[in-house]
Amino acid sequence: MKRPSLYFTEAHDLFRQSVRQFIETEVVPHTDEWETNRRIPLSVFQRMGELGYLGLPFPEEFGGVDADFWYSVVFLEELARCGMGGFTTAVSVHEYMAINHISKAGSYALKQRYLIPAIAGEKVAALAITEPDTGSDVSAIRTTAILTEAGDAFIVNGAKTFISNGTYGDFATLVVKTGGATSDTGGKSGGLSLLVVDLDSVGITRTKLNKIGWHSSDTAEIHFDDVRVPADNLIGQLNKGFYYLMESLQLERLVAAVMAVSGAQQALDWTLAYLNEREAFGRKIGTFQAIRHKIADVATEIEMARQFVYHTCWLYTQGDVVVKECSMAKLAASEMQKRVVDTCLQFFGGYGYMEDYPIARAYRDVRVGTIAGGSSEIMREIISRIVVDAVAYKPVYDGAETKA
Ligand SMILES: Cc1cc2nc3c(=O)[nH]c(=O)nc-3n(C[C@H](O)[C@H](O)[C@H](O)COP(=O)(O)OP(=O)(O)OC[C@H]3O[C@@H](n4cnc5c(N)ncnc54)[C@H](O)[C@@H]3O)c2cc1C
Repeated sequence: MKRPSLYFTEAHDLFRQSVRQFIETEVVPHTDEWETNRRIPLSVFQRMGELGYLGLPFPEEFGGVDADFWYSVVFLEELARCGMGGFTTAVSVHEYMAINHISKAGSYALKQRYLIPAIAGEKVAALAITEPDTGSDVSAIRTTAILTEAGDAFIVNGAKTFISNGTYGDFATLVVKTGGATSDTGGKSGGLSLLVVDLDSVGITRTKLNKIGWHSSDTAEIHFDDVRVPADNLIGQLNKGFYYLMESLQLERLVAAVMAVSGAQQALDWTLAYLNEREAFGRKIGTFQAIRHKIADVATEIEMARQFVYHTCWLYTQGDVVVKECSMAKLAASEMQKRVVDTCLQFFGGYGYMEDYPIARAYRDVRVGTIAGGSSEIMREIISRIVVDAVAYKPVYDGAETKA
């Protein structure tokens, strides 16, 4: 009999089967088309909306499912098994990085206008933090949003880059500078706010970027030239953006870690199948000890990362501030996935280098895992501040507005 999981119930297992079937029948067959077109059709977002996948963590009031966090873990694990880092990114950025800010701190009106259509898959969202001159140092961003004299709108000027869903997406949760770096606005890290911006607004220019991997996701550089944004598109409080971001980045890192472990497992699964097919010197290559021992190392690395990531997910569900563990999980899992995919590709021999084999795409896609969403160096900085300097973090959100 199967031992009960510490984390997943039978209902989670059933949900996993349904997501797996969706990925196998409605996503994987489109891999070549979406990767070649460098684009995911809106229809697949709409389909995921219909199935409830895009609303898992959000309140029912706004079309969400209000499911416990383990449903999201299942969804992200299955998503990452599609073998397209681009698709996985586009969906996870939309659901777990861009619209969660609106759900957590946005006004009721913002939720009506943006959260509901995003959960339904009618509108695709981006999260725009990084700028051409600054990425890791979020406090140094320069895109400004200045309130008009009438106080009814912000005028936005500046540029963002490397923005996933930025080319074809409908709106962005945009990080802007709204105040100087004074003690009133929270010192160096203050003066940042989050605005919801329609990406077809007058004054916005979007340029699609060419990437090594993640081909199916569109990544944009976005310029803002006197873009008028209604004042009530502000998410939460003015000048509180840095703190909102710092808290939500924990979820972003946890999501990245969950997907990295699952992506590594997928690479191992492809490899195990190949070891049983391919022969050399009259034997299946899976019988060579040199390969078997490497596979043992890979399986061990994946399992260790998985258990730590699950433990961190559990801490997260307890409402703990898990800055240290989320940073460790992102660091360990993304570095592990990079090593695992490289090792696995080796055992495909020359075929591993051919585009027809998914391991080749995984090799291209995995490289950015230790850069995007906070680089490994930044994860080490955060962890060392907590471990060496005993820096402590506190919760930020003081309750979301859910009623009109
Ligand atoms: C495909 C892709 C998709 C992305 N999607 C998004 C998105 O949707 N939204 C978004 O806002 N951003 C996105 N990003 C941006 C990503 O988060 C940044 O690239 C990342 O945070 C690093 O910032 P940077 O590129 O400016 O590098 P920099 O900050 O310029 O860093 C350059 C190098 O210096 C290192 N470094 C920087 N500071 C330190 C330090 N204090 N100590 C040690 N080393 C340091 C970095 O680790 C890195 O190796 C995406 C990036 C890519 C490539």
